[in-house]
Amino acid sequence: MELDSLYQEVILDHYKRPHHKGLMADASKQVVQVHHVNPSCGDEVTLNLVVSDDRVEEISWDGVGCSISQASTSIMSDLVQGRTLTQAFEVLDSFSELMASKGTVVGDEGLLEDAVALAGVSKFPARVKCALLGWMAFKDAALQGKEGEKS
Ligand code: ZN
Repeated sequence: MELDSLYQEVILDHYKRPHHKGLMADASKQVVQVHHVNPSCGDEVTLNLVVSDDRVEEISWDGVGCSISQASTSIMSDLVQGRTLTQAFEVLDSFSELMASKGTVVGDEGLLEDAVALAGVSKFPARVKCALLGWMAFKDAALQGKEGEKS
């Protein structure tokens, strides 16, 4: 129970004071922008991503929706900022596994940091979509950014 309320606090903290929120638009950089929605809950995320040398140079986002979706996007942006795409996808895979676990795993805190606070969400299939929204937006943008770099 204590752990649960601690986790609740981490989520609320990110919801109230989201990190990397507010879209950055530096015209000199090649920004990939994606917009993802979760119609079942009404969550929306617009994400701006700058990928350079296979690394997340800059991530920023804006969004509306439930505390889970907004907090999860804030946590994700912390985790991928400055990372190589390979590292970022490793975190993303680990988080996807956690969300698919239906509450059976606690998550690798060394890799997922604050995102382990969302472990309890995996018990509620309807809310898993909320938690994954920002992560899927990042994946989409990162893959597009990677393609853009090659051309
Ligand atoms: Zn939601």
